[in-house]
Amino acid sequence: MAKPKVDQSLCIGCGLCASLCPDVFELGDDGLAKVINENACNGCCQDAADQCPTGAISLN
Ligand code: SF4
Repeated sequence: MAKPKVDQSLCIGCGLCASLCPDVFELGDDGLAKVINENACNGCCQDAADQCPTGAISLN
């Protein structure tokens, strides 16, 4: 399965990814998204990558 990554230099902390995939993404203390479990996508990571307003999420 593809592994998600967040480019924090692009993230604006909107929270969409954490809302779509709460087991995968979390907003850190800095207000930016980070991956907490890259193996928990269950299909939601593609939606998060597609819908992230700044294109900060990549799947590899
Ligand atoms: S959807 Fe994109 S911009 Fe929004 S918190 Fe997630 S990575 Fe950051």
